[in-house]
Order: sequence, then structure tokens, then C-alpha cells
Amino acid sequence: MRATPQQTDARERELAGALTYHGHPDAPAALRVRDWDAPERTSRAVRALATCWGLAVLAVFLPVLHFVLVPSLLVAGPVVALSRLRERCTVRGASGTCPACGAAQSFAVSGALRESTPVRCDACGRAISLRAPVTTALE
Ligand SMILES: [Zn+2]
Repeated sequence: MRATPQQTDARERELAGALTYHGHPDAPAALRVRDWDAPERTSRAVRALATCWGLAVLAVFLPVLHFVLVPSLLVAGPVVALSRLRERCTVRGASGTCPACGAAQSFAVSGALRESTPVRCDACGRAISLRAPVTTALE
């Protein structure tokens, strides 16, 4: 039985971060991150480009919608591929206590590792910031 309900990856690691809310002391947070090496980043970029351009080809057959979808997907392909190529570390999730109300919870965050990611507390609804040590995490 797995410890978490989500699929776990052997190459995931935990990173110490902080949850911040103005006027309150920072609360520690644990981020689950996945590192990508150069071949993996290239593979993800190629797959993103192939997916976007493949969908663009399929969108040619959609009446009226193809006027918007085809050019959008053709442009989105290189944009998404470039972002995948540059993404060295992906956040898969985070957990910690809300600095404002103190409720312990896990946050469904995903995407590239950033210095600050906005999240919302499930208990009090406040918009709090998830801060990650980006410069030390990518060394
Ligand atoms: Zn809260």
C-alpha cells in the first residue's frame, strides 16, 4: 500500500519551502519535486511539440473551429516545447500548515518550480504563497 494516493515516482524528492501570508510568521512547507535531466527534458519537449502539432492536424477537419484551433496549436507547439525544455524541476505537490489559520493540509500544485506559487488555504480560504528555494534546488 502506498503512502500517498497519487502515483509516486522514484525520482521525486522532497524540498523544504515555506508558506507565507503577510502579517503572519512563515510556516514550513514540504514540496514534492521531480528533477528532469537533459535527455528527459528533450523528450518532454519533443512529445509536447508532437502533441500540439498532431492536434493541429486533427483540428483541420473541424468545421469553423479550425480557423482558430489550427493556428493556435501550431504556435502553441514550440512555446510549450520550449517551456518543457527549460523546466529543470517540476513541483508535484506540497504540504504544510497555513500561516494564517494553522490548518495542516496538502496543496495540489503542479508545474515548474518557481520562487513563489499562489495557493489557497482550504480551511480559511486565504490566498497564501508557497515559497521554494529555487536557486539552491537547481544546483
Ligand atoms: Zn488558512
